[in-house]
Amino acid sequence: MKNTVNEIFTSLEALVSHPKQKIVVVTHENPDGDAIGSAIGLGEVLKNVGHDVKIIVPNDYPAFLQWFSSELEILIYERKKNRCKTILQDAQVLFCLDFNEPKRTARMERAILEFSNQKVLIDHHPYPSDFCNLMISEPGYSSTAELVFDVVSRINLSGYVNHDAAEGLFTGIMTDTGCFSHNISRPNTFQVVAKLMEAGIDSEKIHAAVYHNFSAQRMQLLGHCLAEKMQVFPEYRAAVIWLSQKELQEYKFQPGDTEGFVNYPLSINNIVFSALFIEKKDYVKASFRSKGSFPVNEFSREHFSGGGHRNAAGGETKISLDESVEKFKQLLSDYKHQLLETTI
Ligand code: 5GP
Ligand code: MN
Repeated sequence: MKNTVNEIFTSLEALVSHPKQKIVVVTHENPDGDAIGSAIGLGEVLKNVGHDVKIIVPNDYPAFLQWFSSELEILIYERKKNRCKTILQDAQVLFCLDFNEPKRTARMERAILEFSNQKVLIDHHPYPSDFCNLMISEPGYSSTAELVFDVVSRINLSGYVNHDAAEGLFTGIMTDTGCFSHNISRPNTFQVVAKLMEAGIDSEKIHAAVYHNFSAQRMQLLGHCLAEKMQVFPEYRAAVIWLSQKELQEYKFQPGDTEGFVNYPLSINNIVFSALFIEKKDYVKASFRSKGSFPVNEFSREHFSGGGHRNAAGGETKISLDESVEKFKQLLSDYKHQLLETTI
């Protein structure tokens, strides 16, 4: 039988009340602001309680997430595989944050499945797969960071949310809500933000560190995308942008540079569905965004082996970049009715 909600929190409280445990916090591949922010937030709280905490992420993360006051070590699995494996072998507890299927950790999938001590999931994506002992899966939340704050409060650790923890959690909420513009359906999001402000964070500094920190080439790449590589289909209320490896190299691509590009077409009047395809070394990465009722997670799951939230999803495919864009265009007519009916 499944644990009840109360049992889950009682178990979690018991788990972290053991003194000085070795704890690892892990996130999904290509970690975003919510992944890094919630890992730092939870990691700091657990460190402040007295635990030995390490954060492991599957691969590198963007420069605009490398300014936190927290001094917790963030290890990159693909760079330090042996050290990460040893840390995982020694750990008593593993927290999985901001993903809900092991596959999302790519090269770490096996290590996570094989981890034999306590595994705890804290996540806000729909349709979780059952791979942790304790699962806190709340798709109604704006972000994993907001959920981490509530989980920590629920197990009586909110007094440990210091400035450095709050910086992480605020970043997670800010980035997953597009600066408080979407994914917010309840006052709780702002109530949590208020409590984070009380911990002494400088929200303007955090905003600038994340959003005003681009290279000139990244801005030029964005200009190139919007001027040359965006196709708009008003008859389907949709738009697509695509980028090849060659173009990325021309603009000296750095991890994180294309973050946010997929959102731009949604600011065009009447567009409710936007797609971005990026050519990687041996696959094509897809990102989808929508406004209102059109579920891009279902679209992505069905056609691009992906998933995510109703209004923000991703996926990937082994077909070529051109074929991906073509496939997307062909699919639009199947969704015409749904797209035209979409309410914002
Ligand atoms: P992004 O387009 O920014 O990469 O991802 C948007 C959302 O979709 C995020 O919440 C992310 O976790 C989810 N997502 C991205 N790629 C995948 C994928 O390949 N599979 C699944 N299940 N979710 C994804
Ligand atoms: Mn998230």
